[in-house]
Amino acid sequence: MCYAIPGRIEAIEGNRVIVDYFGEKKEAINELEGLKIGDYIYAQGGYVIEKVPSDYALSVLDLWKESFFNLQKLDMSLSASSISKDGVDRRLISILDRLIYGGTVNRQDIAYILEVSDEKSLDYIYKTANFLRQKHLKNSCCVHGIIEITNHCSCGCAYCGISSMNQGLKRYRMSVEEAVKIATDAIDRYGFKALVLQSGEPADKDEFIEYCEAIIQGIRAHKPVFLCISFGEIGLRGLERLYKAGARGMLMRFETSNEGLYSRLHPNKTLASRLEHIRYATELGYLVFTGALIGLPGQTLDDIVEDIFLVRELNAEMYSFGPFIPHRASTLSDANLPDSDMVLKVLAALRFVDYENARILVTTAFETLDPEARKKGLLAGANSVMLNITPLEYRRLYDIYPDRAWREAGIEEQIDKTIALLQSLGRAPTDLGVR
Ligand code: SAH
Repeated sequence: MCYAIPGRIEAIEGNRVIVDYFGEKKEAINELEGLKIGDYIYAQGGYVIEKVPSDYALSVLDLWKESFFNLQKLDMSLSASSISKDGVDRRLISILDRLIYGGTVNRQDIAYILEVSDEKSLDYIYKTANFLRQKHLKNSCCVHGIIEITNHCSCGCAYCGISSMNQGLKRYRMSVEEAVKIATDAIDRYGFKALVLQSGEPADKDEFIEYCEAIIQGIRAHKPVFLCISFGEIGLRGLERLYKAGARGMLMRFETSNEGLYSRLHPNKTLASRLEHIRYATELGYLVFTGALIGLPGQTLDDIVEDIFLVRELNAEMYSFGPFIPHRASTLSDANLPDSDMVLKVLAALRFVDYENARILVTTAFETLDPEARKKGLLAGANSVMLNITPLEYRRLYDIYPDRAWREAGIEEQIDKTIALLQSLGRAPTDLGVR
C-alpha cells in the first residue's frame, strides 16, 4: 500500500500486538525482536512490518490527523444506516435486518440474495453491505501492489490466457535482480508496504523455488515489507521454503468449489490438491488470500454459494472473487461474460457471511468487466484494491484475460487515481491489520 499510517503499540500478548490508530485498536502479528509498548510501527496485511522512530511517526500522524477524521466522517455519511426500504423485497429485508442486528446468514439466504434482480432490492443489498463494512471495519482500505515475475506456466487451465495451451504467447521471466529492483523501487519511491509476487505455475519446482527464494531474500534484505506469493501449486515443501525465505502471504484461489467442474477446467489437477496447499499455507503461518471465479461455463448459482462458504471456512485473510473473462486463445473463447450485478452481489454476500473481518478485493478482472467496478465494489462491501506494478512490456504479456483494466497505466497514474477515488469515498489507504 501507499501512505501507511504509523500506529502505537498499546499491548503485547505473545506474538500479537494491539495497535492504536487515533483511538482505534487493531490487532497484528509481530515478529520483530524487542518491540515495546509505546513504540510506533507500520503494520501491513495484519503483520508488523517495521518500527518507526517516534518523532517521525508523530510528524506523519500530525499530517494525517485531520484528514483521517474527515475521511471517517465522509465514509460514515456515505454508508448511513437510513437506507430506504421502499419497494424492496420483504424477505430480503428480513434477511439483511438479521445481519444488521448481529445475526448470521445461511446458504439459502445467500442463494436468495444472489437471485435478486430488481433495482431497488439490488441497491438495498449493496448499501447494507457497505453499511456493515463501515460499522465493523471503518474506513481502512488495503492497497497492495502486484508484480508478475514470469508468464511461463505448465498448467492447462481452460479459461486462462497464459496456460501452456496458448502457444502463440511470447514468454518472459524477470531476472532475480530485475524483480528485486522493481519491488524495491515500489517500496522506496512509492511507499508500498505489501507486495504480491505472481507467476504461472512452474514446471521445474525446485529450480523455481530457488529463483523465488533469491527474489524474496533480496527484497527483504533491502526493506521490511509484507510479501505475498502467488505461484500456484509449488508443493508443500516449496511453501515451507518460501515462508522461511520471508514470504508471509499466499494468494491462491481455489477457482471453484465444485470438484467436477474443477477437474473439467484444470487438466491433470484436483481441487483436493489445491485446497491442501491453501490449508497447509495457513498452518505454516501464511495469511491466505483466496477465492473463486464468477461466471465459469457450467457453474451454477449453488456452486457460487458454496464458493462463498468455502472461503469463509478456509479462514482467509482476504477474499478475491472476480468475473471469468473469456480469452480468445482458450477453449472457452465463446463463453458469456457474467453481469456486473452478479459480481457485486457476490462481493456483498462475502461481506454478509463475514461482516466483522472480511477484507474483500475489487479485482482487476471486475474493473475490466465494468469501468465503474472499483467504486461500485467499494460501495458494496469491498475494502481492498491491488495496483499492478509490473513494467508495461511484461504486463502486456501476462495475458490471463484480454484487455485488462490498467494495462497501460503507469504506477503514478494508478496511485493518483486510487487515492483520489478513496478520498472521494472517505476511505483511508491504510491496511491496519484487522485480526
Ligand atoms: N499460477 C497462479 C496464478 C494464476 S493467474 C495460481 O495458480 O494461482 C491468477 C488468477 O487469474 C487465477 O487464479 C485465475 O482465477 C485468474 N484468471 C485466469 N484466467 C482468467 C480469466 N480468463 N478471467 C478472469 N480471471 C482469470
